[in-house]
Amino acid sequence: MAGRLVIVGAGQAGFALAAKLRALKDERPMTIIGSEEVLPYQRPPLSKKYLMGEMSFDRLQFRGPEWFAENNVEVRLSTWVEDIDRSAKTVRMQDGSTVAYDKLALATGSTPRRLPAGVGGDLEGVLTVRDKRDADRLMEEMQPGRKLLVIGGGYIGLEAAAVARKLGLEVTLIEMADRILQRVAASETATIMRDIHLAHGVLIREKTGLVRLIGTDGRVSAAELSDGSVIDVDFVIVGIGVTPNDRLARESGLDVGNGIVVDQFTRTSDPDIHAMGDCALLPLNEAQVRLESVQNAVDQAEAAALVLNGEEKPYQPKPWFWSDQYDVKLQIAGFNMGYDETVLRPGQREGSHSVWYFRQGRFIAVDAINDAKAYVSGKKLLDTGVEPNRAILADHSADLKLLLA
Ligand code: FAD
Repeated sequence: MAGRLVIVGAGQAGFALAAKLRALKDERPMTIIGSEEVLPYQRPPLSKKYLMGEMSFDRLQFRGPEWFAENNVEVRLSTWVEDIDRSAKTVRMQDGSTVAYDKLALATGSTPRRLPAGVGGDLEGVLTVRDKRDADRLMEEMQPGRKLLVIGGGYIGLEAAAVARKLGLEVTLIEMADRILQRVAASETATIMRDIHLAHGVLIREKTGLVRLIGTDGRVSAAELSDGSVIDVDFVIVGIGVTPNDRLARESGLDVGNGIVVDQFTRTSDPDIHAMGDCALLPLNEAQVRLESVQNAVDQAEAAALVLNGEEKPYQPKPWFWSDQYDVKLQIAGFNMGYDETVLRPGQREGSHSVWYFRQGRFIAVDAINDAKAYVSGKKLLDTGVEPNRAILADHSADLKLLLA
């Protein structure tokens, strides 16, 4: 039997790795180390149904304690790995004890960027949303009639804004860039999502940055914005992106860029150490990217499980993502990096749309807004490598099924 696998990070990828290995009948000893106090759970509802109070925490957890016991997976919670000694093949815990590994998996995720203390980032009531604790604190703040400032018009900020409006808060969202979703979606998608938020009463101010947050008795009470205005706020959600948790890898001398560099087999520059999920910088389309999604955390972890189990199969990401805002489901298939052309297509139902992305004439991704048909068709095209027929795409009355004929 192989020696011990130590998994650092009890999140989406860490759990997927352990579960896949056990499904493959891999019986090696396994230890998952997680800094949170709870068993692995899914994060997406933290800015959606859980935050709305519509989903209990036990429904977020992948498995109860009995699964870990039955599958002989040791879990150490509320503790974290401080550093890695690659020559001794041990990890050192924060209490100074060590755990020996034969193989090590880094599934440490990412951390939300915070505002510097100099602009009021350390004031009480300035929050981010990454884990259960964050979401629980936010839920306490989300009281009807209160004034919320969301900083950042990415998915997390927009989802939190939607929940806040549904709960009856007054919401202002500021985005420093020209438009919301600048980094992740085309202007057509941004326009549709902006209109939806405006219709629900969110005040969206693009090309508007934060100068500073102003506190009263240590708690945020106002915000000075780059257009000179000062607005009253009761609390703030900072949604300005994440940074990969790559410190352990960096300090132990592994190759690290904007994340832990891995090859197609999820190996880092040390063949006994794998990395996966939000913390990994992986090869895709001749570039190195980090994919911050459930799809990547699970698929990359499962690919690592195959490799650890002796199957040299490369991980070929097939990205997909979703975001829920109000009654709108945005589904994304593919990876739109480097797109140079987009096609907007109204869907058959009112309020449904899709945005198709092309790079050098090749179809690379689709955003489907309340349009499951477009999502499924786009995903199938990407999976099969078939190029969509442009005439059918342009003919808004044509059934998308024809694209697959
Ligand atoms: P994580 O799930 O973050 O797990 C990493 C774990 O490692 C954490 O528990 C961390 O505390 C722990 N850790 C870090 N360092 C150490 C250490 N040294 N020792 C011990 N433990 C350590 N994706 C989608 O596809 N769709 C969505 O709609 C969506 N919505 C999201 C909403 C929110 C609010 C958030 C936060 C994320 C969302 N995501 C969504 C992204 C998705 O949840 C992440 O991409 C995914 O959780 C990444 O999995 P991971 O295992 O890499 O990291």
